Amino acid sequence: MGDEALALAPTELRIGADWRPAEAGGTFEVADPATEEVVAAVADGGVADGLAAVEAAHNALPAWAATAPRERAEVLRRAWQLMVDRAEPLARLISLENGKALRDARGEITYAAEFFRWYSEESVRALGSLQTAPAGANRILVLHQPVGVCVLVTPWNFPAAMATRKIGPALGAGCAVVLKPASDTPLTALAIAAILTEAGAPPGVVNVVPSRSSGKVVSAMLHDPRVRKVSFTGSTEVGRMLLHEAADQVLNVSMELGGNAPFLVFDDADLDAAVAGAMIAKMRNGGEACTAANRFYVQRGIAAEFSRRFADAMGKLVVGPGLAPGTDLGPLVNSPSRDKVAELVGGALDEGAKALVGATQPDRVGYFYDATVLADVPPDAAILREEVFGPVAPIVTFGDEAEAVALANDTEFGLVSYLYTRDLARGLRVSEALEAGMVGLNRGVVSDPAAPFGGVKQSGIGREGGHEGMLDYLEPKYVATDW
Ligand code: NAP
Repeated sequence: MGDEALALAPTELRIGADWRPAEAGGTFEVADPATEEVVAAVADGGVADGLAAVEAAHNALPAWAATAPRERAEVLRRAWQLMVDRAEPLARLISLENGKALRDARGEITYAAEFFRWYSEESVRALGSLQTAPAGANRILVLHQPVGVCVLVTPWNFPAAMATRKIGPALGAGCAVVLKPASDTPLTALAIAAILTEAGAPPGVVNVVPSRSSGKVVSAMLHDPRVRKVSFTGSTEVGRMLLHEAADQVLNVSMELGGNAPFLVFDDADLDAAVAGAMIAKMRNGGEACTAANRFYVQRGIAAEFSRRFADAMGKLVVGPGLAPGTDLGPLVNSPSRDKVAELVGGALDEGAKALVGATQPDRVGYFYDATVLADVPPDAAILREEVFGPVAPIVTFGDEAEAVALANDTEFGLVSYLYTRDLARGLRVSEALEAGMVGLNRGVVSDPAAPFGGVKQSGIGREGGHEGMLDYLEPKYVATDW
């Protein structure tokens, strides 16, 4: 079933002009989370491979940075077209190694490819500026130059989009990159590297080093003086470690870290829209998204009705292998992820929560967990403090707006918040008060390649997507000029 999909993904390291085995010769296995069966063995890059990739990127950098922006744009545009042309097998590849429902995987491919198109358009607009100094004596000229060699580290939950969201702006800006994909999902990243090669990215501009020793390999690269930037998407815990590592060489850093998104529903909300939005905000990608709504705060007057309708919609989801027709909810990516979800739900039930639907594990092979809605969750329950990263929606009721904002902001995370109200003044007032890099106002999805995606507090530093996303790969250079 996955043959056509697997044919798209090389299984060796991409370093310079070569696809090659790891220097130490090892491989690691990639499994299908729906069957627990091995689908491929991928070269297991080590420190020597990581440093060889840095060398290749360093060698490719000067010519790529000097390439006409229009030519760089054309490479990205061709890569977008190739991804669109191969959308179906690429989506199947994602489902195969990540487990997500094919519908979600198709959505991811569209979203992921769009970063290549958007940044092909941005490549020719790395605008600088010129102004007269306030004293009138000289001119202030500002250029934007590529940062240099970038190390990109990506998670397993969006194996295509998290890669293209970094590679697109990096290449558009004129940087060369080494990508270290998550070891649960290296195949999609390798397939994207093959597409970029076909699209005309010169050897060394895009290198990919999957590895089971991520810590060692990334650390060695971040201490190589040829590297100038690290862009990381993943957990706050690992991000924090990489910030320490990056400090040694004072690297330019971008961090897209964990979230714990609140979803506020006010009494005056359009209930149909709020339930539809909750389904998207919670269940896109089976709940395995940094943007997933994790804490539902519902105003007392509509809490019972919202909970009933939401639980009803969650209970109708079809659980099954991501590649099976009709599946709404695939398995979680691996057994520790499934076990963590089960543990958080068990803890919440012990603390007094009531399961309106789910809280069960289907009796079948694979890392499945049923869609779950929990009511009467105590506001201090552990499930509200930790990122659930699964198909579980805890509901807490609130009285007034001030209480809702206080509950929403009571977290070290600040990626995205959602709110539903028909009162636009309240919507904008609450949007301003929420401590988050992004707000979904009467909308359950915020991700858009044309918009600046990112978090505040411990959810991250920097932005991906939009015009802002390319600035993360450019350094301003100020030239004081006199003529
Ligand atoms: P993770 O464990 O932090 O892993 C992310 C990446 O870091 C993987 O490639 C991983 O490699 C690598 N890694 C792990 N330990 C490392 C170390 N010591 N040094 C260097 N690299 C290391 O996160 P995950 O479980 O894959 O992804 C889920 C997390 O990502 C969630 O917290 C989610 O919120 C966050 N996320 C954030 C965004 C955003 O834009 N803010 C988007 C998507 C996901 P291995 O696979 O080999 O361990």
